[in-house]
Amino acid sequence: MKEKLQAITEEALEKISKAKDMEDLNAIKVAILGKKGELTAVLKGMKDVAPEDRPLVGQLVNDTRAVIEESLDKEMKAIARAVRSGKMKRETIDVTLPGAKLIRGHRHPNQVALEDLERVFIGMGYEIVEGPEVEYDKYNFEMLNIPANHPAKDEQDTFYINKDIVLRTQTSPVQARVMETGKMPIRILAPGRVFRSDEVDATHSPSFHQVEGLVVDKGITFADLKGTLDQFAKEFFGPNTKTKFRPHHFPFTEPSAEVDITCFKCGGKGCRMCKGSGWIEILGCGMVHPNVLRNCGIDPEVYTGFAFGIGLERVTLLKYEIDDMRLLYENDTRFLNQF
Ligand SMILES: [Zn+2]
Repeated sequence: MKEKLQAITEEALEKISKAKDMEDLNAIKVAILGKKGELTAVLKGMKDVAPEDRPLVGQLVNDTRAVIEESLDKEMKAIARAVRSGKMKRETIDVTLPGAKLIRGHRHPNQVALEDLERVFIGMGYEIVEGPEVEYDKYNFEMLNIPANHPAKDEQDTFYINKDIVLRTQTSPVQARVMETGKMPIRILAPGRVFRSDEVDATHSPSFHQVEGLVVDKGITFADLKGTLDQFAKEFFGPNTKTKFRPHHFPFTEPSAEVDITCFKCGGKGCRMCKGSGWIEILGCGMVHPNVLRNCGIDPEVYTGFAFGIGLERVTLLKYEIDDMRLLYENDTRFLNQF
């Protein structure tokens, strides 16, 4: 019996030392210590052992079992450690490798054009002022000399929140709000988003941006307006740019004009950009209507002023020679990254 146990132990230890992985060890465990294992078979044979020898044999079997279990346990721990350290090695991060690059965005072409515009006017002493996009009808229309029956108030053009509140159709209500404070003189640039109930096409969008300017002081004349916009055109579109003022009508200015600049692409010779005319329409402007000054509590006998409005998208499209306004809003980075 003793020799048999000795043989089992030696064989087991030999197998354990040769085991390559957990699977091998588990197989050994089952083959020796399992229900049908070799050592279990020895225990089952105890009934053939003389009763007086049983305690001794039992002790021997237990010792054998303990030796094998200890060896198995040691080897299993060693293999588990090896597996873990192998895994760690494979997953080691080389902190000296360059990291994955994040895709970095940049300013939207509209924003770049706006900042260029603002820079020109800040250079002339203008202050940038913003106002609410959801605006009272009173500021958006009434105070700006747009009567109730004016076509601009038509529901087809204006988004009404209720009968007194609209999504502003222009940035001009900012002018009314500034004039109303009564702080003189006024020299402001009011950029912002405006809303019209327009169908989307290459040149229209229900939401777009305006940049409006307003100057009110004693002795402001049309000559100041012309000089300012001429200077703006030269700084923004190039030093050789010429301006042309065409009479026009706006309810909030009198007299009013639309301003064309010489085509910055062909210098006025005529090209595809300017549709052969050599001129490009760029903005609307005029002397602030006395009614508007009066509505805002300013005495038109003492103060005069001028105002102008630039379509930001129009300037952006021109500046970057983009032929479809929708491209500015689709936010396709493949397009936007070009600017
Ligand atoms: Zn041209």
